[in-house]
Amino acid sequence: MNVLIINAGSSSLKYQLFDMKTEAVAAKGQCERIGIDGHLKHTPLSNGKPVFDEDIPLPTHSEAISAVLDKLTGEKYGVLSSLSEIGAVGHRVLHGGQSFSESVLINGDVIAAIEENIPLGPLHNPANLMGINACRSVMPGVPQVAVFDTAFHQTMPEKAYIYAIPYNYYEKYNVRRYGFHGTSHRYVSSEAIKMLGGGAGTRVITCHLGNGSSIAAVKDGKCIDTSMGMTPLEGLPMGTRSGSIDPAIIEFVANHEKLTREEIFDVLNKKSGVLGISGVSSDFRDIEKAAADAGDALSRRAQLALDVFRYQVAKYIGSYVVTLGGVDAIVFTAGLGENSAELREAVTSQLGGFGITIDHEKNKLRGQLADITGAGSSARVFVIPTNEELVIARDTKAIVEA
Ligand code: AMP
Repeated sequence: MNVLIINAGSSSLKYQLFDMKTEAVAAKGQCERIGIDGHLKHTPLSNGKPVFDEDIPLPTHSEAISAVLDKLTGEKYGVLSSLSEIGAVGHRVLHGGQSFSESVLINGDVIAAIEENIPLGPLHNPANLMGINACRSVMPGVPQVAVFDTAFHQTMPEKAYIYAIPYNYYEKYNVRRYGFHGTSHRYVSSEAIKMLGGGAGTRVITCHLGNGSSIAAVKDGKCIDTSMGMTPLEGLPMGTRSGSIDPAIIEFVANHEKLTREEIFDVLNKKSGVLGISGVSSDFRDIEKAAADAGDALSRRAQLALDVFRYQVAKYIGSYVVTLGGVDAIVFTAGLGENSAELREAVTSQLGGFGITIDHEKNKLRGQLADITGAGSSARVFVIPTNEELVIARDTKAIVEA
């Protein structure tokens, strides 16, 4: 079966076509500037055909899906002989609220529930729905599956997801911790459990560290706590997001800087995090470079941004050792976790109090599966490249075949 994976944003749409016989990606690409003018980059991977990378009009998501299907089946750039070769479509959906604890076949009720959760994911859920509706209209009869970023975290106990604010905000508006990057935490924790040889009661801490970052505590394959909250703004500092701060800062800075509510949240989402501290960049590669260059005027602040981030990662790991009653494995994943040996070194060097160490030689790698546990370490330490798209494709195939 071929499964098409769609990740729709408000003006963009990323896709990958999986051949599920081999789980290989046959083609991938993205539409950009949908509703503005339009650009499509389509990369066939399976049969040596050329890349298509051009401006084309994309007035709506439906036209974008049609353009993608056109490329997937066309003679020059295509990898399929006809549309009927697409057996199912899997959609990444940001916020499933309390409605979804696993992936589901999309029907009218599912669409209504995703709509109901728009207040919790006001930017993403409407865009995800545009992708779903576009596929339903352009590919009627092809089964569609929704895979939620929040679903894996629905196993958290109440004590981990309730905020200490008046309880009726939870009752009236569903204000609680949901957590995100669930597909990634689920994938890497299950891979870690395999590397540990399975067993009951395994305790894994998964660190998804990229432009957006979150950490999860996973016991027996189930999430019991995670660092992101009702929205992806809580928890660790990120590329441009503040992560957790004293909520009183919001009013204080808004008053002093004469910022509106929208402006202050724009600062917290887009101008904070390691970008805000360093003044250099939101990209950790730029920050690591600036920190290492003593001649750089912002070198000290770049180092400070790295120190703040790495300290918070270590602090979350420490608190999740408490949550899990110990730890069997720590996993580093996503852009930064997979690629930055310096980050893994700096974070694990703060875990000596737990007897956790890494092998400095084995740690010198980038983007590949590895066991970097140090001799005599009390817990294993793994680098596991995440693959959210593959999880979506597997869920989609399993649900459609069931
Ligand atoms: P992601 O959001 O998972 O795609 O991760 C993207 C982030 O990973 C980038 O913003 C970089 O900060 C970071 N990153 C990627 N490669 C490296 C690298 N070799 N060294 C340090 N950071 C990296």
